[in-house]
Amino acid sequence: MASIAKGKAREGSEEATMRQMEELNRRLLDEFKAEDATAQSRGYTVTSTIDLRTMPVDAAPPAARVANIFTTQPQDGALTENVECILHSAAAKQELIEYPNFPRPTPRSHTNPVIPVLLASLSDDDDGDGEGEGQGQGQGAEVKAPYRIAEVPSKGLGMLATRAIPQGAFITAERPLLLGPQAQHLDGHNMQFSATATARQRQRAAFTEAEKNLRIAFARMAPANQTAYTALHNAHQSDGSGPITGVMRTNAYEVCRLEGRTYAGVFKDLSRVNHSCSPNTTSYFDRASLSMLLFAVRDIPPGAEITSTYCGLLQPRAARARALKPYGIRCACAACTDPDPAASDANRLRISRVADAVPAIVRWAGSPALPDGLLLRPALALLQVIEAEGLEGSLAYVRVLYHVVLILQVLAVRGVRGADTDGLLVYAAKWATLRGCRGEGERVGEAQFREERERVMAAALARSRLAPEGGQRAVE
Ligand SMILES: [Zn+2]
Repeated sequence: MASIAKGKAREGSEEATMRQMEELNRRLLDEFKAEDATAQSRGYTVTSTIDLRTMPVDAAPPAARVANIFTTQPQDGALTENVECILHSAAAKQELIEYPNFPRPTPRSHTNPVIPVLLASLSDDDDGDGEGEGQGQGQGAEVKAPYRIAEVPSKGLGMLATRAIPQGAFITAERPLLLGPQAQHLDGHNMQFSATATARQRQRAAFTEAEKNLRIAFARMAPANQTAYTALHNAHQSDGSGPITGVMRTNAYEVCRLEGRTYAGVFKDLSRVNHSCSPNTTSYFDRASLSMLLFAVRDIPPGAEITSTYCGLLQPRAARARALKPYGIRCACAACTDPDPAASDANRLRISRVADAVPAIVRWAGSPALPDGLLLRPALALLQVIEAEGLEGSLAYVRVLYHVVLILQVLAVRGVRGADTDGLLVYAAKWATLRGCRGEGERVGEAQFREERERVMAAALARSRLAPEGGQRAVE
């Protein structure tokens, strides 16, 4: 009951805005109706009408009719902070607004939720230091974002660091200007084609229908957001995409899933971040604040370009080049310009195969026959490979850091030199920080780590009872 009441209150505040929007949208709809009447001559018919149902939370859409829902969310502050959403069903809207703690304000600072179980257990007097510097001091401390949008040679506009940004530090959080189903879901879901319709006609029709929906959402945006949206790059000017669709296809990041569909968002500043195959940031979408958080995954010097990725980074160079082509990007990063791609491709393949090694660590921890250095050496070597490829934002990096932490804890129990608490703390802090940058600190509970650590330590203790060691030893 409580959630229904909350939904109704929010609807009430939407009502005034909706009346204004309705007038504006009515004109668009008249235009579209005239277009639909002639659609048949273009080889297809539209099987649904665009239905402006801005507040359909409690009403399921009529069966056998697909109608997108246009809604402005979360309406909790400045107009430019609002996100124009195109949602494919009432249930999707419900899923969006009933997320726990929605709507939380866009974070202006962020401290990774670290010093998890594993670290806390290392030392009782640890005060939780070890996070990136330059982060805000709690709520209300408005920290100026450490970047500016400026011209980058041969890339157009990009994002540049205005000061040194340490590994793990929060860079910015931003809500999208527009959020909608990924382009392919906008295409053609409500069309029926005549048997003779050509592929080209189908494609055209899909673009036309996508543009219609996006024009409605665009018309509802705050004027400043419209200006920001149209200023973004459009790499699809000559393939039949409408102008708003083109900008969406060029600039949208996948942000979340609602009711089984993938949604993408277009951002004023974050969509300006250029691609690199060795990006110095990672990001995650926070559903509660409806914003994307951007973090440095390695130290970024002042003036350096801040980069992210538009493709799967662990695929070989040729595959990345194909994936980047629709964006009009010919990547000039180190991995893409090395005369011989073989070494980098091999490294990335190796990184893509990094698997969960906890069972192997448990086995090693409990076995008197296996040498101390068996797992540590390869794990540290792997960290170096990942750092050399500039893939500190990868899941593999977080995973290997975690393995190193577990291994060093076992070596500390064994009294092996080189496994001192300092080294352990450095790796543990790095692991926790990078895990936080991926949003895993918020999404994944500590229970799993507690359980795994206990398994590893139990094995190590059982072994020390089997084969008591004398004094300090170096890693063999
Ligand atoms: Zn590249």
